[in-house]
Amino acid sequence: MLFSLGKLFVLEVSLLLTCFLGDHLLTHPVTNQRYLVAIGDSLTHGFVGAISWVIVIDAKNRHDIAQCLLCLMFAMAVDVDHFIAAKSLSLEAALSLPSRPPFHATTVIFLVDLILLIMAAILKSGTPLTLALMFTVAWFSHHVRDGTRRGLWLPPFTETPPLSGLAYLGLIMVIPLLGRILYTNWLQFSTDRQLKIIESNIV
Ligand SMILES: [Zn+2]
Repeated sequence: MLFSLGKLFVLEVSLLLTCFLGDHLLTHPVTNQRYLVAIGDSLTHGFVGAISWVIVIDAKNRHDIAQCLLCLMFAMAVDVDHFIAAKSLSLEAALSLPSRPPFHATTVIFLVDLILLIMAAILKSGTPLTLALMFTVAWFSHHVRDGTRRGLWLPPFTETPPLSGLAYLGLIMVIPLLGRILYTNWLQFSTDRQLKIIESNIV
């Protein structure tokens, strides 16, 4: 695997620091305003997603950075469901839901990946596979970060107890490494025309 161990070490440490900093800010007196907590938490999810994708693809250039920004947006987009479920743009309403909103169901990741795998087979394109991997890295890392409070939710099957700090940080570090193995072995050389179109819209 052509990947500098030094660079990988720096990126993994960056992931840990992002989590430590983001989690610390959530409980810091400075961020006792609900909207500041929500913004800080969302940005932390986004940065974890972006750094994870840097590891997955070994990002080197502008084209790669665009993919990382897309992964950042995927990771942050999970929390949109709070507002959809509340049917309101009010942060108060979004954070006072009686149950977990739908994008926080980890089973949704399997469903979306299945749809993207079928699309890849029909279109004979690697782009849906790359998107499936990016989506999985972004959303699962978000679910794992949230999982320290309420566990992982896998409706209609089960839900886990809240994740321990060790399980949380361990998974956050392992997810991009597994993603990298999948990417280098199966996806790196596939056609990426559709993804480039998406990227060109956000650069
Ligand atoms: Zn969330």
